[in-house]
Amino acid sequence: MGCAAGFVNVPRIKGSHNAILSGLLAADHVAAALAEGRAHDEVRAYEDAWRSSDIGRDLKPVRNVKPLWSKYGTYLGAPLFGLDMWTNELFGFSIFGTLSHGKPDHAATKPLSEVTPIVYARLTAKPAFDKLSSVFVSNTNHEEDQPVHLRLADPSIPIDDNLPVYGEPARLYCPAGVYEVVYADEAAKSDPRFVINAQNCVHCKTCDIKDPAQNITWVPPEGGGGPNYPNM
Ligand code: SF4
Repeated sequence: MGCAAGFVNVPRIKGSHNAILSGLLAADHVAAALAEGRAHDEVRAYEDAWRSSDIGRDLKPVRNVKPLWSKYGTYLGAPLFGLDMWTNELFGFSIFGTLSHGKPDHAATKPLSEVTPIVYARLTAKPAFDKLSSVFVSNTNHEEDQPVHLRLADPSIPIDDNLPVYGEPARLYCPAGVYEVVYADEAAKSDPRFVINAQNCVHCKTCDIKDPAQNITWVPPEGGGGPNYPNM
């Protein structure tokens, strides 16, 4: 539910309301199914229920925002999705119908040969935050001996394929710095190893979705593991 099911309202940059509503709705449907004595089947009524609920009413008018943004970029895409949102708001329809992305996220990753690497300035100014400081603030915690929740179908792919072709993007897109490429000799970039710091995972599931080889599978961690935002 929530972000995992894509219930973020992109132009509002807001999803916690739909995360709560979709969780409540799912619990209602599962409880009703259990009360009927059902087991080992799908709760199909959930699909129609969220579409006709406040979640659907919130998301339908903005359904084309990300596809238009991805396809036409910020300068052309923003006016187009702005126009689309206004026609939805004022007249209840979209001149674009319902758009999709056309390909999954992992297939949209470009190889190194087609991009110019971004060189980030070193962190000197204050206030400045690095990834691990933010992971610390999220109170992320996992039991030391819990089962592995980030699984590689083929452990050789990150170094043998992803590193030369894509620069191993997991070390960049993971918001928690879980994935690292560590070299025996950093200066010579020799003998690279792929390191997974699973204890830092904040469970956004990006790696499962974005890995170009679809080699990473995220599974739910042991109960209670992960970030803990006590003031939300
Ligand atoms: S689920 Fe998110 S935080 Fe966890 S390892 Fe994957 S990309 Fe990183």
